[in-house]
Amino acid sequence: MDLLAGKEDTRIAKSIMVTGVAQGIGFRPFVYRSAAAFNCAGWVKNLGSAVEIFIEGNPGDISIFIKSLRDNAPSAAKIDKIQVTDAGYRGHTEFNILESSRLNDDVYISPDLAICQECRKELIDPADRRYKYPFINCTNCGPRFSIIERNPYDRKNTTMDFFTMCPKCRGEYEEPLSRRFHAQPNACPDCGPILVCLDVEMRPYSEDYAALLERGLIGAVKSIGGFHLVCDAKNEGAVNKLRRRKKRETKPFAVMARDIETVKRYCIVSQAEEELLNSHQAPIVVLQQVKETELPYFLNPGLNSLGVMLPYTPLHHLLFGSRLEILVMTSGNRSDEPIACDNAEALARLKGIADFFLLHNRNILNRCDDSITRVARNRIQIIRRSRGYVPLPIKVQSTSYPVLALGGDLKNTFCLLKGDNAYLSQHMGDLSNKICFDEFAEAIVNYQQYFQANPVVAAHDLHPDYITTRFAQGLGIETVGIQHHEAHLASCLAENNYGGDVLGLVCDGSGYGQDGAIWGFEFFACKNGFFKRVAHLEYVQCLASDGMALRPDRMALLYLLQQGEFEDEKRLARYLKLPEGEGALYKRLLASNQNCILTSSCGRLFDAAAAILGICAVNRYEGEAAMRLEALCSERTEDYYPYSIAAAESMKVFSVRKMWPLVMKDLEKKRDKGYIAAKFHHTVEKMIIETFKVLRLETGISTAALSGGAMQNAFLLSGLLNSLEKEGFIVLIHRQVPPNDGGLSLGQAVMAGRLKPCV
Ligand code: ZN
Ligand code: ZN
Ligand code: FE
Repeated sequence: MDLLAGKEDTRIAKSIMVTGVAQGIGFRPFVYRSAAAFNCAGWVKNLGSAVEIFIEGNPGDISIFIKSLRDNAPSAAKIDKIQVTDAGYRGHTEFNILESSRLNDDVYISPDLAICQECRKELIDPADRRYKYPFINCTNCGPRFSIIERNPYDRKNTTMDFFTMCPKCRGEYEEPLSRRFHAQPNACPDCGPILVCLDVEMRPYSEDYAALLERGLIGAVKSIGGFHLVCDAKNEGAVNKLRRRKKRETKPFAVMARDIETVKRYCIVSQAEEELLNSHQAPIVVLQQVKETELPYFLNPGLNSLGVMLPYTPLHHLLFGSRLEILVMTSGNRSDEPIACDNAEALARLKGIADFFLLHNRNILNRCDDSITRVARNRIQIIRRSRGYVPLPIKVQSTSYPVLALGGDLKNTFCLLKGDNAYLSQHMGDLSNKICFDEFAEAIVNYQQYFQANPVVAAHDLHPDYITTRFAQGLGIETVGIQHHEAHLASCLAENNYGGDVLGLVCDGSGYGQDGAIWGFEFFACKNGFFKRVAHLEYVQCLASDGMALRPDRMALLYLLQQGEFEDEKRLARYLKLPEGEGALYKRLLASNQNCILTSSCGRLFDAAAAILGICAVNRYEGEAAMRLEALCSERTEDYYPYSIAAAESMKVFSVRKMWPLVMKDLEKKRDKGYIAAKFHHTVEKMIIETFKVLRLETGISTAALSGGAMQNAFLLSGLLNSLEKEGFIVLIHRQVPPNDGGLSLGQAVMAGRLKPCV
């Protein structure tokens, strides 16, 4: 474009630095188009994590241009800062996109992005050359992280390298004004990936795949970050068949609804939840289900919440066909395995589960599960941080040396910390599974390449037998063990960028404590960066090698034997539907103190309560008892059971010892279980608030931070937020990373990053 020569006298120049922009989201073409729209000349250049712009034009036009950078940027651009400085006028006559160069070694790789509005329009437009093409994408949408092989993000470094663009696609790719300018996965039916639908014998299906789903069949569908197992969520037979074949007894299935109107028919949706569903991250949002629905009970047995997402790939839109409106979309695996992500693997591992396979030839490099989120009191909470969020860094206080933190063994994520960027990995799963472990090791190597970091310190959990601990020790670099709950708390403080004094509460399943006990309901006072454990739930004895986390009924027996003052152990066992002999056996084991271990776990306390209420005797998935207990809470009550706080000088010990006999009494009186569950929650909440108040009095600290897996309990969390704020506390909670073990590695990394002043 030639920009009116002779106007130089009124034209000025500015140099603009935009930081925090990810690769592959079409930011430079956007700058190009804006410059053209506002009669500006100059250039734009990609510097890795920043974009540099040199702009010349009339002062008025330039200021609108700068404003538009913020206001109209592509939705996936997460701009940290726009810095504008005056520059010398050079008389550029056109605007150009210059070759990339590197400013520093910060790298932002874009997460996978949900299909955008414009691509959706083309998808359903019979006149468009990409009508019904399942791999339609542009600079605003499509796969990114899942297809990148190595840095930098260029087509040749992605799995799209396999496809040669046709002249039309190449034209778009090279045209700065096109929405597909430098869209690395750009493709069309003539040159791009193809979809095939096969039966279990690998013969092509002639029937349309939507019709197969309508008939109640189960499909294995290759999505962005891996395979999904899909069936009609309204078809009870199909849902039960999927449970049976997948050997997934009761763990809730996530669903995908055709559109937001459909979601609203089945669930209550707030504005914040609607925005989250429609965001380019397109996560699963856990929503409150409406009371009467025609959805089958076995979709989410015993719960009143449902994990819902909207279609985020073109293929998902096509799945719905004409009659389907809500589909089960669960990860394509057998229980406890990671999701399958390549074709051969899916055919082998999902055989016997799926009735048909929907495959394509665009390879997935980085396996990435759906992210899971929920909104509590208008605040977004991430329960599983994966597709759509990863691998964007969490901004933390800068460290002088790179750290690799290995996380925990379950719900694993690892974290690579470099400068002020903490690159938290996608959800890696349960590392005791061989496939998960191999991928974890491979992903660590990939991350070091993507983000050009060579860690000098490896941080791990204190637990000596964790797989991650041994892995860290085998790396050949300096290692540091971080206490589990301190890491939880540090992760909450880090993502809130909080460096001041704070009282921290961690309500969690279990973690290795410094005294050899299993901790899980802990208060810490943090002063000048040092953590000190100052209060915990009264210990109970449990049996060391008994799989206690799986057996709420046995946990209930243990609690009642030790704290309930119930004499007749046989009657207790019978009440809990355990074999009568177990009452006596456990009593004997406790008395002998053999093989016993102490625990203050919050998860086990909730397990015990759920089992006593008779709603969950065995955890068939992690957290089932606690989730059912939460779901049971009808409405809030002001009533609570008695509790105590023993205020020894250096350590407060709070206890629900006096609660159990009264819970039993309420049960005998046949009080509504929803009421008892809510009263139990309120008791825990009161006990927490009171402990916070005692600690505030002693320390003078009035900022509270909440972390740990139990903070996923929205009923508990919103109760705590309300009460703490009413009491005048400033409250920090997780928003960017999970409060559960999925966020552990972030805390480990920042703690390890602070240990040495300089390397
Ligand atoms: Zn698009
Ligand atoms: Zn093409
Ligand atoms: Fe934990």
